[in-house]
Amino acid sequence: RSLSRYSTAAVVENPIIPPVDVKYSKLLIDGQFVDSASGKTFATYDPRTGDVITHVAEGDAEDINRAVTAARKAFDEGPWPKMSAYERSRILFKFADLVEKHSEELAALETWNSGKLFRQAAKDEIPMFVRLFRYYAGWADKIHGLTVPADGPHHVQTLHEPIGVAGQIIPWNFPLIMFVWKVGPALACGNTIVLKTAEQTPLTALYAGKLLHEAGLPPGVLNIVSGFGPTAGAALASHMDVDKLAFTGSTETGKTVLELAAKSNLKPVTLELGGKSPFIVFADADIDRAVELAHFALFFNQVSSVIILSLVIGFIPQKPDVAKEPLFYGSRTPSNEEGQCCCAGSRTYVHESVYDEFVEKAAARARRRTVGDPFKEDIEQGPQIDPEQFEKILRYIKSGIESNAKLECGGDKIGSKGYFIQPTVFSDVKDDMLIAQDEIFGPVQSILKFRDLDEVIRRANSTRYGLASGVFTKNIDTANTLSRALRAGTVWVNCFDVFDAAIPFGGYKMSGIGREKGVYSLDNYLQVKAVVTPLKDPAWL
Ligand code: NAD
Repeated sequence: RSLSRYSTAAVVENPIIPPVDVKYSKLLIDGQFVDSASGKTFATYDPRTGDVITHVAEGDAEDINRAVTAARKAFDEGPWPKMSAYERSRILFKFADLVEKHSEELAALETWNSGKLFRQAAKDEIPMFVRLFRYYAGWADKIHGLTVPADGPHHVQTLHEPIGVAGQIIPWNFPLIMFVWKVGPALACGNTIVLKTAEQTPLTALYAGKLLHEAGLPPGVLNIVSGFGPTAGAALASHMDVDKLAFTGSTETGKTVLELAAKSNLKPVTLELGGKSPFIVFADADIDRAVELAHFALFFNQVSSVIILSLVIGFIPQKPDVAKEPLFYGSRTPSNEEGQCCCAGSRTYVHESVYDEFVEKAAARARRRTVGDPFKEDIEQGPQIDPEQFEKILRYIKSGIESNAKLECGGDKIGSKGYFIQPTVFSDVKDDMLIAQDEIFGPVQSILKFRDLDEVIRRANSTRYGLASGVFTKNIDTANTLSRALRAGTVWVNCFDVFDAAIPFGGYKMSGIGREKGVYSLDNYLQVKAVVTPLKDPAWL
């Protein structure tokens, strides 16, 4: 590589100008872009430089109330819940087509606002977004109840009805992917929505909202309020006229919104929260592959269906030539980011017999990472999202050093502007260190040593989280044992971060409540009604 590893000086001096303008920055309520009731706005930033991109209307409790009123009206009086499911599905399919048409612009906006690699946004996330929306569009006209065999002379059927007004709160790390995980199933089931985006990344959701209306979504069905958590978010979670709440974010905020929902109208809540996922490498694993996959599991932020396929194909029938393809098996371009992923494999457990070799290779791999402007093709890692995350990650790195974990590489920020951090690897990490317990949400790999199967199961499960896990072994018995023993919503065996529209995702323990994606996500947005009818005039009448 001719590229300097840390090319951030160039970013700050000469950032690539994003090939897109900000078109939508107001609140989307009842089909219209409107100012906030207070007239207030807030700045949204470019994480490459910390510079302001634009100012966005700042919604608060009053705007949430306006949006909920519009969503209520659209649900109670509008066509959306009542129209034929086929018509609903056609609108959702049309929207997916429009996103494809505008994918370059959407991807550029996503990178500009979140610091995500442009190539990742354009080639992985937008296609995934479209794929997911089409998946839910396909479900819209396949949702139906059952005929229930009941004792006695009654015809019993269940109706699967939309739940009503859904309140949805999303984080900044995958602004568009989080949009489709929430909005896709809710719309397919015939609900109306008030979506509160993350204050760091309001821009692409507004653009997607505009395209949904262009596709034929009736006014009031999807309302989008940009704003802050304690004001707009809390107002949504505690609103008496919101029938369901879906939240993705940190475990701490998850507890807050659950409490707000309970104290208001007891709306059902699904939570997708944080994680501290184990990635376990056994002695029989191919070490070069394991190093690459562990690296991917930690530093990655999103994966494409192309990469998923190549990973699966690469791992099952073929043995990729690691020397020729040092980044991703079967993948032409690497799709890494900066470790801002809820399911990051952030505790790398390695068997003692291969530990030293693994650590050496993992550190060498991290040293090769290129950090810089996410709009550039050759860059593997962009900036962290904002000063708070940036400082938090640096504090965790300091805590790792102070607790005597061995710093193998990285450990510092890069440059003086923007939020870039060196790819960092710690070895000799112990379970009780803060870096092994807390979700760091940054490019910091912690490598721990283990001796036997029972020990690693116990240690992998000894966390308050249970979002995901990875197992790397050639032994089918070991893989099967771990798949059942690990208390996590996902177990990836000889792969990691394999997502698909149909694969459910969610957490055990304090990583969440409920599942999103796949057929499971429909349950979050449906009520089941039992309808009982006598087969003939009942004798008691
Ligand atoms: P966060 O909890 O700070 O914010 C998430 C959302 O909640 C934002 O929209 C924010 O404005 C809102 N919010 C904050 N305070 C609120 C309050 N008092 N009431 C209502 N809403 C409030 O999380 P974050 O830093 O934006 O996101 C990172 C976290 O999200 C990480 O912990 C990560 O693991 C998690 N995450 C989980 C998943 C998953 O599927 N499990 C996916 C992505 C991110």
